[in-house]
Amino acid sequence: MSTFKAPKGTYDLLPPDSAKFLAVREAIAAPLRNSGYGYIETPGFENVELFARGVGESTDIVTKEMYVFETKGGDRLALRPETTAPVLRAVLEANLHKAGNLPVKVWYSGSQYRYERPQKGRYRHFSQVGAEAIGAEDPALDAELIILADQSYRALGLQNFRILLNSLGDKECRPVYRAALQDFLRGLDLDEETLRRADINPLRVLDDKRPEVQKQLTDAPLLRDYLCDACKAYHEEVRQLITAAGVVFEDDPKLVRGLDYYTRTTFEFVHDGLGSQSAVGGGGRYDGLSEMIGGPALPSVGWALGVDRTVLALEAEGIELDIPSVTSVFAVPLGEEARRVLFSKVTELRKNGVAADFSYGGKGLKAAMKAAHRSGARYALVLGERDLAEGVVQLKDMESGEQIAIGVNEIVAELESRLG
Ligand code: AMP
Repeated sequence: MSTFKAPKGTYDLLPPDSAKFLAVREAIAAPLRNSGYGYIETPGFENVELFARGVGESTDIVTKEMYVFETKGGDRLALRPETTAPVLRAVLEANLHKAGNLPVKVWYSGSQYRYERPQKGRYRHFSQVGAEAIGAEDPALDAELIILADQSYRALGLQNFRILLNSLGDKECRPVYRAALQDFLRGLDLDEETLRRADINPLRVLDDKRPEVQKQLTDAPLLRDYLCDACKAYHEEVRQLITAAGVVFEDDPKLVRGLDYYTRTTFEFVHDGLGSQSAVGGGGRYDGLSEMIGGPALPSVGWALGVDRTVLALEAEGIELDIPSVTSVFAVPLGEEARRVLFSKVTELRKNGVAADFSYGGKGLKAAMKAAHRSGARYALVLGERDLAEGVVQLKDMESGEQIAIGVNEIVAELESRLG
């Protein structure tokens, strides 16, 4: 072991388990690619102000969880704690919203960094796949995103997840509700920090997980009762569209989210097998974010699904993904000349799209065949000195154990036809 360890709250993705993470990312991305979302990639760090303004000065993410640093050039940057604000920044910077084709629909996949208290399912470095649809106010767009997330979880075989849905209102009705909630909260027995939060962002207090706080919130006013007619109609339309698509959801009038920029549609995907860190994904509409970071009005909606927690959810449900072995052919040379010949055949196989690996390090037959088994290859190619003299190679079917000799020059054609 080296003297170094992965930093606290992080872990490494190692084969073979790492294949699961790739498969989850792919399963989440596939429905998006199929629905007009283009791939976007932004830097792992941004100007710290982007998050302060975009995520919200009073959020835990900004006040406690950001990795902030100053560069040698004096720039104040932060490792990204989330990717919605960066995506919007990138779209505005490149004027994609002016190209005349709204909404701009993009998806991303990447690392996020939050200085949180680590526990199972909560890490300081984690990975999300996200989707954003920028520049359109249309309930069908909100519905599309919820349906696509549902589809990707279903494609993975997940069953024990629930979709919680709420509307946070808009700039007409939310302030009225906010004031009513503040009045209510001021009458409760809350600690100082929570009271301060009630002043800055009272909705977030609803999200407080502590039982002593939750107990006092049973009679809190609900946003549902304050929604303006436009927000009500919008929300009803979203509900109808996802219902028509066969997506099952629960209305959760207390659902708020940790980021300031959400308006109207808000949703969370929770999984019941994950204990306290039960949210596997979440998102919603963020109509005001563009203006908050200096852009024009661009109503938008998006979500981010956590890859780490989705993998934990799969494990909680005992789901083994059907991940085919990567290597189809494993080549075992016995001797110097065989090594040269077989290595060039392996290169040729690879060029022809056959996944092939090679026994390196001059291993003997026994150790090499062990490696062949471990690789999961369907076929092994064994080239000994006598074979070489005869211009043949032994082709072994690793499943049936059957072995035949084929001409060295037939290797590629034979394996291509066998592997289809
Ligand atoms: P958020 O960006 O906070 O809305 O989170 C979206 C999703 O990212 C959550 O539902 C989780 O699946 C995942 N996530 C957020 N924070 C963490 C974390 N610290 N560790 C692991 N996954 C996280």
